[in-house]
Amino acid sequence: MPLFQYKVIRVRKLSIATTISVHPERGVVVRAPFWLSSSAIQKFVEEKSEWINKHLKKIGSTVPEKKYLEGEMHLYFGQEYPLKINLINTPIRTSVEMAENSIKVDLYQGHTEDKKGLEIKEGLLRWYLETGISVITEKVNFYTEKVGVNYSRIDIKKVSSIWGSCSPNNRLSFNRKLIMAPHEVVDYVIIHEICHLVHRNHSSRFWALVAKYDPKYKEHRRWLYRNHLLLSI
Ligand SMILES: [Zn+2]
Repeated sequence: MPLFQYKVIRVRKLSIATTISVHPERGVVVRAPFWLSSSAIQKFVEEKSEWINKHLKKIGSTVPEKKYLEGEMHLYFGQEYPLKINLINTPIRTSVEMAENSIKVDLYQGHTEDKKGLEIKEGLLRWYLETGISVITEKVNFYTEKVGVNYSRIDIKKVSSIWGSCSPNNRLSFNRKLIMAPHEVVDYVIIHEICHLVHRNHSSRFWALVAKYDPKYKEHRRWLYRNHLLLSI
């Protein structure tokens, strides 16, 4: 499942290069020759996803860059919480945990100012990854039992241009940034990938199965397309 939605325009010419453009109104548009398969186009878009995200960010420019300072708001399961930085006298590994209505960061006060920002960013990323593993595993176990399917393993990706994927050998992968999205959206991504254990395509039978376990899946899918830029760390 890619991070953004894109439109494909088929060009009736044999020798045309596949190109991608990012428009403020039209979004991501891919122009491809008529003979190129959908999976080849998808692969092309995935390879270019870093470039596309950069441009989407530029034109959307509503997402301020994070500074990792006291009181800055960060997302956790769709809710924003302020950072509460707790400076410690002795050198420690930066740690992050959920406190009452804030995200508490224990940080060594001897770090330089630049290093402090970096430490908090990395601490948050580690926290999203660790939380991601336990919450996503729990949700996957819950839904695979409901659907009546088995998976081989779960990977939470550190860097990923997709929300989730399901490999031919039943390996499920998820993006750690999902932990920033609301629970019902995380559930949708998990249900989507689990339904691929039954249908390895996006056929109407696949979507009917998704709808059975997430009747509001269209709303959740839209949320991801609209908000994926907010889910930056
Ligand atoms: Zn899919």
